[in-house]
Amino acid sequence: MDFLARQERVRRALVEQQLEALIVTHLPNIRYLTGFTGSAGIALLTLEATYFIADSRYLLQAQTEVAARLFPVEDSYERAVVDLLKRERLRRVGLEAERLNLARYEFFTRELGEGIEWVSTRGVIEALRMVKEAEEQQAIRRAVELAAQVFAKLVEEIRPGVREREIAAELEYRLRRAGAERLAFETIVASGERSALPHGVASEKRIGYNEFVVIDFGVVVGGYCSDMTRTIYVGMPDARAREIYAAVLDAQLRCEQEMRAGMRACEIDALTRDLIAARGYGAFYGHATGHGIGLEVHEAPRLSRHNEARVPAGAVVTVEPGIYLPGWGGVRIEDVVIVNERGSEVLTPTPKDLLVV
Ligand code: ZN
Ligand code: ZN
Repeated sequence: MDFLARQERVRRALVEQQLEALIVTHLPNIRYLTGFTGSAGIALLTLEATYFIADSRYLLQAQTEVAARLFPVEDSYERAVVDLLKRERLRRVGLEAERLNLARYEFFTRELGEGIEWVSTRGVIEALRMVKEAEEQQAIRRAVELAAQVFAKLVEEIRPGVREREIAAELEYRLRRAGAERLAFETIVASGERSALPHGVASEKRIGYNEFVVIDFGVVVGGYCSDMTRTIYVGMPDARAREIYAAVLDAQLRCEQEMRAGMRACEIDALTRDLIAARGYGAFYGHATGHGIGLEVHEAPRLSRHNEARVPAGAVVTVEPGIYLPGWGGVRIEDVVIVNERGSEVLTPTPKDLLVV
């Protein structure tokens, strides 16, 4: 990864906002800018240099992996930031408004008083992260393929009587064995009525006969996330179950076929939402069509009806419409796709026709 090039792009954004520096406290943003993979640290990007503030637990690691000047914490992270800002005589400094906690902000303002003009910024680095470099696309592709390969064999384990948590445990074990660094989020296995909960994490419930089972999971490979959902039917699906599955699948396929770079996020969202509404299930599809994915499992751009921003070529997003009937059950199908000028490239290789076991 070319960290110095990324830092230069952030500097151009700082110049546009007439900032002399940006304090970066969000760890995925720090990783994106410097390569640091640990769990604590603060970066300070000025127009001349990039600093990484690290405590003793991470100094050694930072020396080998971070593309920035190291500034060790002696007392506290907050004190180190204040010392560095004073030393560099910075006057107009940006903060990550959505990421910085209030206690830190209070400390900075108390210690530096009127000497600094604080500027609240939003999504400066997140906007750059939205367009994935070839190397990042490759990492996401590896995560998606690993997850799909493991899932293809897991299907044999799904049958009546098995607990949701057993399915999740088996899946997670196999994912780790296959090379996942960690899970991207808590695995969802939701069967029967529970499948109507869009975020129903695996429970003690046993899978019954004539039920949908929604399985939604992701892994991290090389720091990058995957995210996929498939819905399986256990038993003999009736006409309603087939109709609902077909509506979700048609919406999902339509979106993948018709989306392309330059469309507004809300227009992409409408591709799934309008189709599901036309089939009569609009009231049962509450969440957004998808989200960006990368160093974080949920990142920009959010493919929701409220987001009017245009989606750039090189964005990697999920497409995951669903229908959820309370007391009955639900269906969701989710792939990861790369958005380009011509359309989209679907990375998730797993078949999507209704699988009945
Ligand atoms: Zn998911
Ligand atoms: Zn998702």
